[in-house]
Amino acid sequence: MASESDVIVIGAGAAGLAAAKELSRLGLTYTLVEGSHRIGGRAYSEEIAPGVWFDLGCSWLVGDAINPFVAIADKLGIELCQDKSHLFKEENHRFQRNGEPLNDNQRAACLRFYSDTYQAISAAAKKGEDVAVSDVVDLDNEFAPPLLCGIATSWGKDIDLVSTADFASSTGELGFQALHGYGTLVAAWGADIAVLLNTRVERIDWSGHGVKVTTPKGTIEGRTALSTVSTGILASGDILFSPGLPDWKMEAIHNLPMGTENKMGVHFDADVFGEDGRGHFSTWNDDGNAAKVDVSVMGLNTAVVFVGGRHGVWLEKQGQQACHDFAVDRVADIFGHDIRKHVDRSIVTAWSTEPWTRGSWACALPGQASQRANLQRPVDERLFFAGEATVYGGQGTCDGAYQSGAQAAQEIASQLLAR
Ligand SMILES: Cc1cc2nc3c(=O)[nH]c(=O)nc-3n(C[C@H](O)[C@H](O)[C@H](O)COP(=O)(O)OP(=O)(O)OC[C@H]3O[C@@H](n4cnc5c(N)ncnc54)[C@H](O)[C@@H]3O)c2cc1C
Repeated sequence: MASESDVIVIGAGAAGLAAAKELSRLGLTYTLVEGSHRIGGRAYSEEIAPGVWFDLGCSWLVGDAINPFVAIADKLGIELCQDKSHLFKEENHRFQRNGEPLNDNQRAACLRFYSDTYQAISAAAKKGEDVAVSDVVDLDNEFAPPLLCGIATSWGKDIDLVSTADFASSTGELGFQALHGYGTLVAAWGADIAVLLNTRVERIDWSGHGVKVTTPKGTIEGRTALSTVSTGILASGDILFSPGLPDWKMEAIHNLPMGTENKMGVHFDADVFGEDGRGHFSTWNDDGNAAKVDVSVMGLNTAVVFVGGRHGVWLEKQGQQACHDFAVDRVADIFGHDIRKHVDRSIVTAWSTEPWTRGSWACALPGQASQRANLQRPVDERLFFAGEATVYGGQGTCDGAYQSGAQAAQEIASQLLAR
């Protein structure tokens, strides 16, 4: 196998691809190795119906125009769907309890409870108290069920496992989506990068000078390595570091465990949502079933049902049919049982058991928000780390992953060029 690059980049998701582009711009050589058969990682789109795209991972270009993928889409002539994005902003969220929409007073009370909770989380963070979100939420409030479900999906962990400081640091409104998928956009942007696909990294030897990276196709040598794999992969031992990573790095990895958010896209053969149906819903029932539902984000006959945290992991284990049935039931909670006649097909995700990530994104445990900085910190000026989990503020996003990759490339360049 080819040898001797300045940097061996591990993983061709948004972070690895951004790093590769930045390294080449800075005049450094790299070898980019990807274990799976495709680029994009957690940015991945499939057609749910002919010409109708569904994102299994990231879908929202968070932060509107400041998101670097907005300019990238523009340059590549890729269409973004921005016309009704305001319908999905928090102030326009709709709430459905036991199949009935909240009335105006209930809705106002519900939004007040959400806002009070966010303020309590920020206040804890400002005081330097990095406690569990469950410590500051009024769990007896009648609107706690949709809030808890919302946090479990947005963070991938239930509130007892989410850090207030990490929560408060997260920035960016949802923004908008790409008509052919965010995954398709990332793949088109990365298409000009040389990547060794189906090349799983098994071992990184940093015992001598530089690094030696072992894959089933042979060993690659480089001056430095940049890992962009998830904390789920780093914690699993799938990649053997020799010598082992220092304790402070392992502590960072284990205190930023992967959360799970699963998405169930349901496509209908007719417009079952009606003129006023487009928007974001939280639905919950006294039987304990709850979900977030994005309806017709791009004006298409598709609803996306989200579940996360322990419930998300449990439902995933029940299998595809159970996920499909759950998703159709939640859409029926909102739009009535007649929608069942028009179900065309669905795609359901299984992120907690996805072998290349082992979860959806990294969530800091209570008291551990500062570990993102340790996760990012290089080891021995040879092992560098990027990816969504290393970002404080843009964690859990595709643009955050992009920024982390570009930043790591710059750090490596300033170090190698100074030697
Ligand atoms: C369900 C879901 C919904 C999401 N929604 C949004 C959203 O709406 N907006 C948003 O901005 N973000 C969203 N995200 C998050 C976003 O997708 C991720 O933060 C981002 O794509 C992560 O990029 P990355 O480069 O850090 O990691 P990855 O994309 O995971 O890239 C790492 C790469 O490393 C590879 N790899 C793993 N192990 C090895 C190995 N041993 N050897 C070689 N290669 C290996 C993997 O195959 C992968 O390609 C969502 C994610 C999920 C799962």
